[in-house]
Amino acid sequence: MIGFTKNALEIISQRYLLKDAQGMAIETPKQLFERVAKCVAVVEKEDFMLWKQRFYKLMSNFYFLPNSPTLMNAGTRDGQLSACFVLPVEDSLNGIFTSLKNAALIHQSGGGTGFNFSKLRPKGSWIDASGGTSSGPLAFIKIFDVATEYVKQGGKRRGANMGILNVDHPDIEEFITSKSNSDAIKNFNLSVGITDAFMLAVQENKDWKLLDPASKEVRKTVKAAYLWQEIVNQAWNSGDPGLIFLDTINKHNPLPKSGEIQSTNPCGEVPLLDYESCNLGSINLSKMIKIVNGISSIDWEKLAETTRLAIRFLDNIIDANYYILPEIEQITKAHRKIGLGVMGWAEMLLLLKIPYASTKALLLAEELIKFIQGHSYKSSHDLAIEKGEFPEFRKSSHPQTFLLRNATCNSIAPTGSIAVIADASYSIEPLFALAYKRVGILNGITQTEINTPFINTMKQEKLWNKTLNEEVLKKGSVQHIKGVPEELKHLFRTSLEIPWKYHLLHQKAFQKFTDNAVSKTINLPENTTPETISDIYMNAWKYQLKGITIYRYGSKPGQVLQKCGPD
Ligand code: UDP
Repeated sequence: MIGFTKNALEIISQRYLLKDAQGMAIETPKQLFERVAKCVAVVEKEDFMLWKQRFYKLMSNFYFLPNSPTLMNAGTRDGQLSACFVLPVEDSLNGIFTSLKNAALIHQSGGGTGFNFSKLRPKGSWIDASGGTSSGPLAFIKIFDVATEYVKQGGKRRGANMGILNVDHPDIEEFITSKSNSDAIKNFNLSVGITDAFMLAVQENKDWKLLDPASKEVRKTVKAAYLWQEIVNQAWNSGDPGLIFLDTINKHNPLPKSGEIQSTNPCGEVPLLDYESCNLGSINLSKMIKIVNGISSIDWEKLAETTRLAIRFLDNIIDANYYILPEIEQITKAHRKIGLGVMGWAEMLLLLKIPYASTKALLLAEELIKFIQGHSYKSSHDLAIEKGEFPEFRKSSHPQTFLLRNATCNSIAPTGSIAVIADASYSIEPLFALAYKRVGILNGITQTEINTPFINTMKQEKLWNKTLNEEVLKKGSVQHIKGVPEELKHLFRTSLEIPWKYHLLHQKAFQKFTDNAVSKTINLPENTTPETISDIYMNAWKYQLKGITIYRYGSKPGQVLQKCGPD
């Protein structure tokens, strides 16, 4: 029996196991991994059984898991396996509703969609065809939002969306405040599409022109600093909007000849051209540790081998995939983008006894992701030699002497579900709390959990006792507990106890060697000020991050994770 936790088994049986018409599971968790391994191995020309076995072990050992749609849909009829899509939104009813329909189909299959709504004419613009005036991008975002609400992803979860409006669109003020009113948009992450020109205008306190997207006529002039303050205030208020740095993204666009990138997928880890899709997967770092003579260290050999197999796995999915639209199939197969990332970073640090909020952790983060990227590229190169480079390789900005099978190889995804399945900490995030209530996403049942590495360390240090257990359950923290040495308090600082600079510097460290992007939430305590959020957003741009998202504790009702403590 594969070692699933109770939580993992619950999530797997509710959402991932194939069911019959009566809703009864028709496979075991072991058969789930066999089904996925078979689907991924089938595209191999030789040694099918061998590859199937390797892919099976990769997953059942929890060394690596692919994104949810692959686990849910592999081996089924019309099995759509990717998590990330970007769709265009053209300035016509036909264009808008075509994308709405396509988004619904993607959501139904378990994928998430990103859109840039900036081509839409502003509210109140004249419409030739009807002789009326336009409702503007916000009205259409609301329609997409409502449609998303009613199309459940593969009957298992609601769709996720990214909605972007560029900072020079005339409706930008309405967009910035749109998550704060009562009929707020629910199924979208909203981000303002930021340019370097805007950031300079903010710094120099200059005027900023809002332009008609089609004619480029100036519709309104505002102070850049005023818009900036609006963004910051609303982010303080509700967590949205985040920022997407379009110039940085396009500076690293590997296929500039195929177009400019205008959007990312819902959580921001993959900038994509219109109709591109990407499949993701994450290495579980907590399993990449070896213990020799009682001393823990990173098992680099195992990490290299896991990376190599994971890249092959993700590349195979491009061929095993079912594509909802011919446009998506054409561009996805032309570029063959994949996104290998990580989960379990916080646990890896705990096992190495390195505090998240330390320079040592940041240096290790860089070393680790550089290693993963290096081996990802090496594997993609070897695959190019074995199976052929991606069709548009000659058009790409990659060095032409080093063939590649994939236009991109790495993304750091949030791993919201697969980390639960693998019993790993999320992505590159610190522990949210040492004990937390997890409100069931599907059934609303609240479960309380104490972090396992924490319990183990405390037992090793002979500090584990009933009082400690009770105190940690009450507060989710050890910072207030007498008798716990300072060193351990530092090691076990949780997300809200870690200064924001370390959150941001971790994102920076991982972004440095990630060709796509890093999805990270800068979690902030409730008493954080708007000035701090302004600093974070400004530094994110200076650090050349591709996007930034913050969340101030308590600023949104219905958080999935809630700190323990008095209700
Ligand atoms: N995603 C989605 N709906 C969800 C969660 C995720 O469509 O409810 C998509 C979205 O594109 C997101 C990506 O899956 O950016 C990766 O998210 P995550 O790593 O949390 O997915 P997991 O594979 O763990 O479900």
